[in-house]
Amino acid sequence: MNTVYLDNNATTCVAPEVLDEMAPYLAELYGNPSSMHTFGGQTRRRIEEAREKVAALINAEPDEIIFTSCGTESDNTAIMSAVESQPRKRHIITSRVEHPAVLNFCQHLGRKGHRVSLVPVQKQGRLDMDAFLRMLDDDVVVVSIMHANNETGVIFPMDELCEILKERGIVMHTDAVQAAGKISIDVRKLPVDMLTISGHKLHAPKGIGVLYIRKGTRFHPYVIGGHQEQGRRAGTENVASIIGLGKACELALQHLPAESAYLSGLRDRLEKELLQSCPNTRVNGDPSRRLPNTTNVSFEYIEGEAILLRLNEYGICASSGSACTSGSLEPSHVLRAMGVPYTAVHGSIRFSLSRYNTEKDIDFVLEVMPGIVRELRELSPFGRNDAACSRDYASE
Ligand code: PLP
Repeated sequence: MNTVYLDNNATTCVAPEVLDEMAPYLAELYGNPSSMHTFGGQTRRRIEEAREKVAALINAEPDEIIFTSCGTESDNTAIMSAVESQPRKRHIITSRVEHPAVLNFCQHLGRKGHRVSLVPVQKQGRLDMDAFLRMLDDDVVVVSIMHANNETGVIFPMDELCEILKERGIVMHTDAVQAAGKISIDVRKLPVDMLTISGHKLHAPKGIGVLYIRKGTRFHPYVIGGHQEQGRRAGTENVASIIGLGKACELALQHLPAESAYLSGLRDRLEKELLQSCPNTRVNGDPSRRLPNTTNVSFEYIEGEAILLRLNEYGICASSGSACTSGSLEPSHVLRAMGVPYTAVHGSIRFSLSRYNTEKDIDFVLEVMPGIVRELRELSPFGRNDAACSRDYASE
């Protein structure tokens, strides 16, 4: 059975060109870049080339880029650095719809004595800018707000946010894990102080991340040890993955405009035809400001988990915002923050595409989905779930 992979916001395949560049550094060229000898030292040059390519993706300077182990580490590092740089300030602002890499870390700091404010979102997932402005005070140590949401693809108004914070001298971090490589980011125009990227969302391997730190931003390392990354992130470099990420960023930059048009074309067709062929279906998220590759569709009155299992039988990979599929008992905090009715939250499916998807993939989903929805609606009257799934979240 062929796999139709439509879960690219969860992770992506490693691009063949990326794998080719990495392979020698996992086999014969295994030297340590910090070694004095030529054998190790030759990997240093390749790391610096990769740094240039990563920097180019967001129009940064290479020395504004540090490599980390993942997006989560970059997010934690950025927030912790801001907090440690201004110990007298205690107020952290983030949004209700962040990835747990930011949300749970801020809540952790909240338990240690910081005050954490969560900016709400409106119905279509847009950031509530009035609420955000009301939260700003002299005690704000950092604002960490994602560039684009992983569940809905909704893009936040980064320019506006960064300008407001720049005027007030407040440190701004953005989690651009889902945005990088999918939409254009130019840190020379966008006055953000720190920005996170994760390799495995843009066809590099898992276990490699990036933190952009604008020159002049006060920085405290989070991982402390050796002098790697100019003392900003200790630990022997993940050489092969760094080289792979460099190549992945080069490809992303090269493909970006064409890919964006291609993916939004596929996505829009999928969305439009699903809405036509499946009754009681809705799209979650602002259609005018979304990542080109993402759609979040709610098939009301059925469970996302059941849909995923049926899709899986056809080799189709997607993901769900439903409670019982994510490993936690809570349904998607993002859809709940948007006020999506609970009958729709539970039946929500995220399809996220990549350059490797084809019209044929979309044809296949469109072919099987109406039958799955019909069958599940007949079989599974909504409401037979356990207590955790049947709480009325819409009223919370
Ligand atoms: N931030 C966002 C928006 C994400 O979607 C993810 C991963 O899903 C992360 C952070 C975490 O990245 P990583 O898996 O590299 O730690």
